[in-house]
Amino acid sequence: MPMSNAFKERLFPDLEQIADHFGTPFHIYDEAGILETGRQLKEAFAGIDGFQEYYAVKALPNLKILELMKQLGFGFDCSSIAELIMARQVGAEPMEIMFTSNNTDQEEFDAALKDGGCILNLDDISLIDKVPNPFPELICFRYNPGPRRTGNIIIGNPVEAKYGVTHEQVIEAYRRARQRGAKRFGLHTMVASNERDYSYMVETARMLLEIAALVESELDIRFEFLNIGGGFGIPYRPEDKELDIRSMSREITELFNTFKREHGYAPRMVMESGRWMTGPHGVLVTRAINHKDTYRKYVGVDACMSSLMRPALYEAYHHIDILNGADRPHEVVDVVGSLCENNDKFAVQRELPRVEDGDLLVIHDTGAHGHAMGFQYNGRLRPQELLLRGDGRVELIRRAETLEDYFATQNFKADSFTPAK
Ligand SMILES: *Cc1c(COP(=O)(O)O)cnc(C)c1O
Repeated sequence: MPMSNAFKERLFPDLEQIADHFGTPFHIYDEAGILETGRQLKEAFAGIDGFQEYYAVKALPNLKILELMKQLGFGFDCSSIAELIMARQVGAEPMEIMFTSNNTDQEEFDAALKDGGCILNLDDISLIDKVPNPFPELICFRYNPGPRRTGNIIIGNPVEAKYGVTHEQVIEAYRRARQRGAKRFGLHTMVASNERDYSYMVETARMLLEIAALVESELDIRFEFLNIGGGFGIPYRPEDKELDIRSMSREITELFNTFKREHGYAPRMVMESGRWMTGPHGVLVTRAINHKDTYRKYVGVDACMSSLMRPALYEAYHHIDILNGADRPHEVVDVVGSLCENNDKFAVQRELPRVEDGDLLVIHDTGAHGHAMGFQYNGRLRPQELLLRGDGRVELIRRAETLEDYFATQNFKADSFTPAK
């Protein structure tokens, strides 16, 4: 199922009151659900020494959410300066920050390496010489298996992905990093997105262990950690099956144990899940404000794709509940926002209980890659974010954008320049 029954039971009885108090639209996240999922993950991988999740900050970059991750003992996977700042603001230690950028510039390297630094995860062999001195003692590379691995449907074919060093470059990458002064090593890959077939992740772990053995035999390097990336899928549709995290962790643990028997040591395993950690624990709540009956029936709501891009970007399915509407007769509608783009739709030709103006619509699974992807096109502003605490309190954790915010980048001291002829 998409949103859990437990989350519904915590949220739905009070939702009308919450909407009246804060106004709509908003994303609301479920603290109890996030903490529970985090504990489940730690328990599943307890058999691997030093297992660590680095939460992918881009999925839900809100400080209050990152505080929950810190509370769980998780680190942070960052790929921009803003994300580094957020991780440090919630108290992440250098070794709790993985900087997985790509097409990295000097300013990003400087930001990553200051304030105690972080784990630098390099995307390309050409970046080795661009890392400023002193070269970090611990270095990691992102590995792209290319034709050795068929990508999953969502992330596409590794050969076409801009990320990572190739199989042919991987030995040279570690050799050159060692020449520059690296003494400790990690290895990373990310080859799946929203993958619910657990065996794909087991194959990823197997692949990294093979590369670790290869690099060890060529360069006599022992890896400190292997990072299998994120990409763990969630069921967006009611009929979708959940990722079998128990079977996944059991089989991956076995692979690490086998490696340990054969090599006398095993690297730690880390991951950087975003979607699986928080996706199901957030919903977008929006009110129906208009109805339209033309070639199709339309329900117009007070949110638009500035709150949730996934349907427009990927034709992604997000399940929708109508608060207190389950028993009504059904009709087929498009649920739309007010952006001047015809893909500004939360649902297309969806059978839903009949919606009345004023109804609250609950759009599921917006706890990852939801608010974070929003933009301001058409002058449509990004909505507020709320956090439903375990004790029933509701906290505003990001205010809605205002017109003042929107115009801020055009308010500046006059500056003009005439190039010399
Ligand atoms: C986006 C991303 C993640 C998180 O992906 P999810 O699908 O949210 O788990 C992890 N690592 C890297 C490098 C990413 O770009």
